Amino acid sequence: MAVDEWLADLNPSQREAVMTTEGMVRVIAGAGSGKTRALAARFAYLVNELGILPGNILCVTFTNKSANEMRQRIHRLTGDNDTGYINTFHGFCVSVLQEDSHAIQYPKSFLVLDNSDIDAMLKMIYEERGLTLREMTFARARDMIEMIKLKERPDYYKDMLTMSLDVLHQKFTDAVLVKDIIFYGYLYQEKKCFGLDYNDLIVLTLHIFEMHEQIRQKWQKRLEYIMIDEFQDIDEPQYRLMEVLCAWHKNLFIVGDPDQTIYTWRGANVRYLLDFDKKFPDVQTIMMMENYRSTPQILAAANDLIDKNTNRIKKSLVPMLGDGRAVVYFHGSSGAGEADWIAQEIIRLREQGADYSDITILYRAHYVTRVIEEALQKAKLPYTIYSGVQFFGRAEIKDALSYLRMIAYQDDLSFQRIVNVPKRNIGQRRMKFLEDYAREHSCTLYRALCETVEEPIFNGTRAADFLRLIRNYTAVFQEYRVSELLASVLSDSGYETMLRTEGAQDRLDNLAELKQSIYEYEVSCGEEAMLEDYLAHVALFSNSDAANPQDKIRLMTVHSAKGLEFPFVFLCGMNEGIFPSRKVRTADGMEEERRLAFVAMTRAEKALYLTESEGRNIDGSMRYPSRFVLDIDEKLLEIVAAPAKRLIKEARDYSRLSDLQIKADEAAARFLTGTRVRHRVFGCGTVVAIEPERKAYQIQFDGMETTRAISFKAPLEQVYQETAAQDADT
Ligand code: ATP
Ligand code: MG
Repeated sequence: MAVDEWLADLNPSQREAVMTTEGMVRVIAGAGSGKTRALAARFAYLVNELGILPGNILCVTFTNKSANEMRQRIHRLTGDNDTGYINTFHGFCVSVLQEDSHAIQYPKSFLVLDNSDIDAMLKMIYEERGLTLREMTFARARDMIEMIKLKERPDYYKDMLTMSLDVLHQKFTDAVLVKDIIFYGYLYQEKKCFGLDYNDLIVLTLHIFEMHEQIRQKWQKRLEYIMIDEFQDIDEPQYRLMEVLCAWHKNLFIVGDPDQTIYTWRGANVRYLLDFDKKFPDVQTIMMMENYRSTPQILAAANDLIDKNTNRIKKSLVPMLGDGRAVVYFHGSSGAGEADWIAQEIIRLREQGADYSDITILYRAHYVTRVIEEALQKAKLPYTIYSGVQFFGRAEIKDALSYLRMIAYQDDLSFQRIVNVPKRNIGQRRMKFLEDYAREHSCTLYRALCETVEEPIFNGTRAADFLRLIRNYTAVFQEYRVSELLASVLSDSGYETMLRTEGAQDRLDNLAELKQSIYEYEVSCGEEAMLEDYLAHVALFSNSDAANPQDKIRLMTVHSAKGLEFPFVFLCGMNEGIFPSRKVRTADGMEEERRLAFVAMTRAEKALYLTESEGRNIDGSMRYPSRFVLDIDEKLLEIVAAPAKRLIKEARDYSRLSDLQIKADEAAARFLTGTRVRHRVFGCGTVVAIEPERKAYQIQFDGMETTRAISFKAPLEQVYQETAAQDADT
């Protein structure tokens, strides 16, 4: 294709972004203004027009999914199979380490650890030191390890690299505090298998670059052009990595939208985007003012919402599409009512010619999907849960769930599925024996095995082991979280070992995904996530029959919809306590939540539906319409069913009260980060972070190596002027 042909599809600012290939270039522009499109075109321009080799370009995306999409897009534009480094920061670090991990004496075949691997390590750690889940759940231990690595001891990796396995093990066995036991146990386990978690990937890459000039220069020289999408959500380690990588050629192209910062809770900082020109001289900043994605109606409503954030730079986009329907608002009298209405509306859209795949249902938290799925199934509408596509139909997922069901119910279906997986030498003949016995005695297969396991027919089998396994878990499962239970039983049953021996990494990945989904399920329902509840919840997914795989309604969380676009968007569960989430504890958190709602709304191209319903939240509280709906001027909405006036008033009162509560909670933190404070015993230190959820500061005391969490209530004093004497007494 000739250059002007595909440049013709771009507007002047996009063209400028594409053709300004040298130096530091920043694009700040709103949702749907064509940033990602410009980035892809720029890649093609570099390759097709300037003859740059794809292998010398680094293109960083935020998720693996967007990396895949970008790769396909670039492939279409360049026709080249070599698409260079199009990846997330973590994925890129894997490439670096695969090439250069010898510099830190790690083999090429290091393991990238996922949550399930970490859990398996924790299990060994707990067993060796006699810890139980009562002391700390695996999920909390993982979070804690991450926090220690990120905040308390950012140079932890030096221990990992310099200490021998023996020394690390010694530290682990000598440790007294649970926290230290887990942390050193984990470092030991990591080193033992050459495992690296996500944090390690970045930190070790940086370390190699710092220690080995040759390697650093090799990569710096190789990456002639660097482009980063979704820059508003970059975090500190990633930023440092970027600084190193672009230092040689100094060709860096970043794009972002401050209004779409939605990962602050994981360390993202929008200042990196906003202060980019202060950090680098001669930055060229390009604005894109047109919106090509959404109708003027959708854009107006989304802008009206984001306008309510106080901490924001105003910008307005010019809609390029023609008029469409006003944003629709539906209030249901129950969750089921809301879901049924969505299903009916989808049927109407379909009659008007829309494909199911044009329709996406977005939500803040996974648990919201249950009612939606019920309604879709009742209406026989095909759908797929994003990131869990036909997921629950896969063998390993069914097996894993059968283990859980076996523990809860000892039912025949589960029994048949797993009694011989992994192999326990219970084949057809023995199975038939059990079936006959069960029929004669009208009992379950499990009972049958319990009663006959001593019979000679089971000699040479591992039937007794299987019974022991199920019995042990049946006795205690009520005390475990479902996610922990699953991790534990998959390991104890030998199921995971079986997959490992088979080298079935993708199936192990699926199990990790299942654990993650259970974990999210637990987070979404709080403490009361019982095994039986979970099984009921998940049965919904496993029973849905597969229709035409191409044409399905998509269901996904707002976070995973980042950067994507869909013709018709239903944003459901727009209620206080769901969206905004009840976990929001700070005014900043509330603004981030509003940005998230803005991201959700700006995914829609032709039509946007906001829905919610009254009733009770999962914590038993009253359900009110979300402030994010009430934020939007009524004139911009087509209200199909409105809540009672009384409910709106109560909702407004509720939001106001919760804002006051947030202010009060925040007020309890008397010091901002960066403040110098004095503690009666620990002396002077600096507040490095505030943790409103725990009502505590993280303080780096001058005389201590690691930070401490100190309660808001502790008698801390602000230090205004530091005298030599004060310094001396710390
Ligand atoms: P987000 O902030 O949500 O990531 P974005 O700025 O990256 O959005 P894109 O996804 O690149 O926006 O573009 C939004 C839509 O507009 C896409 O469908 C894209 O193809 C289309 N588009 C972008 N630029 C143009 C243009 N110059 N002419 C016509 N359509 C365009
Ligand atoms: Mg984009």
